[in-house]
Amino acid sequence: MTKIAMTTPLVEMDGDEMTRIIWQMIKDELICPYVDLKTEYYDLGLEERERTKDQVTVDSAEATKRLGVAVKCATITPNAARVDEYNLSQMWKSPNGTIRAILDGTVFRAPIVVKGIEPYVRTWKKPITIARHAYGDVYKNVELTVPAPGKVELVYTPADGGEEIRATVHEFAEPGIAQGIHNLDASIESFARASFEYALSTRQDIWFASKDTISKTYDHRFKDIFQEVFDADYRTRFEEAGIEYFYTLIDDAVARVIRSEGGFIWACKNYDGDVMSDMLSTAFGSLAMMTSVLVSPKGYFEYEAAHGTVQRHYYKHLAGEETSTNSVATIFAWSGALRKRGELDELPELVAFADRLERATIDTIESGQMTGDLAAITTLENPTKLNTRDFILAVASRL
Ligand code: NAP
Ligand code: MG
Repeated sequence: MTKIAMTTPLVEMDGDEMTRIIWQMIKDELICPYVDLKTEYYDLGLEERERTKDQVTVDSAEATKRLGVAVKCATITPNAARVDEYNLSQMWKSPNGTIRAILDGTVFRAPIVVKGIEPYVRTWKKPITIARHAYGDVYKNVELTVPAPGKVELVYTPADGGEEIRATVHEFAEPGIAQGIHNLDASIESFARASFEYALSTRQDIWFASKDTISKTYDHRFKDIFQEVFDADYRTRFEEAGIEYFYTLIDDAVARVIRSEGGFIWACKNYDGDVMSDMLSTAFGSLAMMTSVLVSPKGYFEYEAAHGTVQRHYYKHLAGEETSTNSVATIFAWSGALRKRGELDELPELVAFADRLERATIDTIESGQMTGDLAAITTLENPTKLNTRDFILAVASRL
């Protein structure tokens, strides 16, 4: 066949361990036979990060600003054990953290829903996407142990020497604890914009919730900024797209999420997003079926799987044992990036290919062929458990 043409390259960020092996198989078996693949390749594998003093990570993020769409393989975030294992000169920072800081993004996580892997919540028919604000609140807190009676205050000292503002947190008559947290208008605004952009690009309703009835200044600020951004720049575009923005109290949101059919985006403050995304990925079935995309308010997209490098499987692989590692979220990172590139460059064949690749992957699982993690939880009878390579080949034959 004539291969499907691309015009603008994708930023390709290669990674580590088992996912690096899957990465190559996906390209060889599922993409390159059909697409005249154009990428700008950055090797974010730990050895190359060490060799370039992590400059390759920065370069890949800068390339994403230039080209607009990236696809990323899972990467090792070094800890003390990795420093020894890879003989590192430094404990390099998390590549995802570095990329996020450069692109100023919000992370969206959505489960891939297939028949036979049933959500624990009966009413859920469609995926629920979490948009998590990734700055501030309790993640940048300051805390105190209050050892004995005394007063804890919040004090604001203006930089220009103006009058300070004080508020009493509590007059302690006995020992206790206290905490100070903050956020920034600009960060909240960029979170709101990224969320609204993502809702438009996926044509889904968006919900946002906070505890504004109790936190009348702090949480209320989030509510107000979302509403101001929506009214100024998104109301008309949402009407045209036939989608809705809906604000409610966090308690009400939690109750409605459980009763819902899914099919919407749930924008969450930092802590809510941390906790709720773990609950949702488990309730939908498996971490290996969770997609993740970083969206910047400027409209850059970086697609990846939510899981890590699956180190335990990699060591089995190195020892010559058979592995059954699930490649679905990594396949969907590629299809997501190719689809977005196709939309931006007006290449309907590339968009259609991304749809077919996803369909073939889902159909393979629904026909009973799957990796071990899914075979262990499926409601389908007599599933066939495939090894890492055979699963990808099964998708290829369907494609
Ligand atoms: P992990 O790679 O997500 O794997 C944890 C466990 O979850 C695996 O041992 C496996 O369970 C199961 N699992 C995850 N993905 C799977 C898949 N695709 N197919 C089948 N099973 C899967 O987390 P980790 O082992 O804690 O972390 C390994 C490395 O990944 C670390 O160096 C960490 O820094 C990095 N990491 C990177 C990212 C990223 O780049 N976005 C995210 C998280 C972690 P069983 O062993 O029971 O089969
Ligand atoms: Mg968490």
